[in-house]
Amino acid sequence: MGKEQAVTREPLGVDLAIAGGGLTGLALAAALGRAGAELAVIEQAPLASLVEPEHDGRVTAVARGSQRFLASLGVWPAIAPDAEPILEILVGEAGSPLGVRYDHREVGREPLGWIVPNRTLRLALQTAVAELPAVTVLAPARIAALEPGPFAIRLGLEDGSAVEARLLAVCEGRLSPTRELLGIADRRFDYRELAIVCTLRHERPHHGRAVERFFPDGPFAVLPMPGRRSSIVWALEAGKAAAMRALDDRAFAAEVQERFGDLLGGIELEGQRFYFPLLLVEAERLVSERAALVGDAARGIHPIAGQGWNLALRDVAALAEVVEERLRLGLDPGDAAALERYAAWRRFDGLALVSICHGIERLFSNDIEPLRLLRNLGLALVERLPPAKRFFMRHAMGLLGELPRSMRG
Ligand SMILES: Cc1cc2nc3c(=O)[nH]c(=O)nc-3n(C[C@H](O)[C@H](O)[C@H](O)COP(=O)(O)OP(=O)(O)OC[C@H]3O[C@@H](n4cnc5c(N)ncnc54)[C@H](O)[C@@H]3O)c2cc1C
Repeated sequence: MGKEQAVTREPLGVDLAIAGGGLTGLALAAALGRAGAELAVIEQAPLASLVEPEHDGRVTAVARGSQRFLASLGVWPAIAPDAEPILEILVGEAGSPLGVRYDHREVGREPLGWIVPNRTLRLALQTAVAELPAVTVLAPARIAALEPGPFAIRLGLEDGSAVEARLLAVCEGRLSPTRELLGIADRRFDYRELAIVCTLRHERPHHGRAVERFFPDGPFAVLPMPGRRSSIVWALEAGKAAAMRALDDRAFAAEVQERFGDLLGGIELEGQRFYFPLLLVEAERLVSERAALVGDAARGIHPIAGQGWNLALRDVAALAEVVEERLRLGLDPGDAAALERYAAWRRFDGLALVSICHGIERLFSNDIEPLRLLRNLGLALVERLPPAKRFFMRHAMGLLGELPRSMRG
């Protein structure tokens, strides 16, 4: 992985330090490492442990804009064999005939997005970063203290070594301890839900169809994977999720079949089940002196619309563009002007998605009759208004707003 760094007492001097080597941190390292910036990635876990099959059984719905960005990093060819194109999305409330059907042909010839196992994304990004001589990976390592100064931010690591960077990008996920060290407060909302994630094998082909059904106790999504396989993401009120956890695979599959019906024929589980507590966390600001929050560290949203990492990649591509431009012009990549540009660029998109995903979750997670009427009316309206439908499709595909260069067509 990049250059292995032995512990020394001399600080390691870099343009950019990236705290967190998950999907977001590695994408940023791949983008700026290719541009020749000197980088250090500080990750708490050994990198090899992050690609073990039992680490993360999730898949990610990769939007078109994100796919373009991954292609610009040169990693898409390694991802494509495991990526299943999404050709159609059905959204509706359980037990209601009304709903919205998004068909990729309504917005062009390409798919609406791709479903990719997280493990494939991590492997592709780790491999890309390992080939970049400008990237030093420090793992396992954590920041214990930090001190922003006029020219650099000094990071004291837990092992006693130090890094000096002109800019620190915090990509430590929604519970980031470094965000706290920077004194950036956050707002939280606990959904009191667990997302149950697992892979299914099924009798009938899925034809590239993703399905999202809203139940009063949480949304249930079925996402197409290569072959006759699909991933499910089932967000369920915590007590009920615990009861599901206690079931053996066969009984659990029967519960899934009952929710999902017979669309895919008989089903059986492939591999283990994974559980994720759902918590909305929104940082009060995106930047502080010589530091920027990126991805889930800036805001971790409900997975109801499969947008968290797509939003994170728009942060990554925007920050990479700002930093690269300033380095090319011989300017400081971590000064106030650079940070203001990044924060102004990313504020609206982040706020919008926090509100949209939280709003959808709240609107659908109840059985109140007037609300049920309102949401069915809303879905029926979108289905009958082609311009509104195309707008929502292009938004979900990550093709709206002020896109970084690497995400434009
Ligand atoms: C069930 C579920 C389904 C989802 N589906 C989708 C989807 O379909 N599409 C989509 O776009 N998004 C989806 N998401 C959201 C997506 O998974 C996240 O947005 C994404 O994982 C964020 O990546 P990240 O690297 O910012 O944070 P994380 O994945 O949290 O990674 C943070 C990294 O930082 C490291 N770290 C933490 N603290 C420290 C520290 N102090 N020092 C050093 N390292 C540290 C961690 O070890 C980790 O490697 C889903 C989320 C869930 C829960």
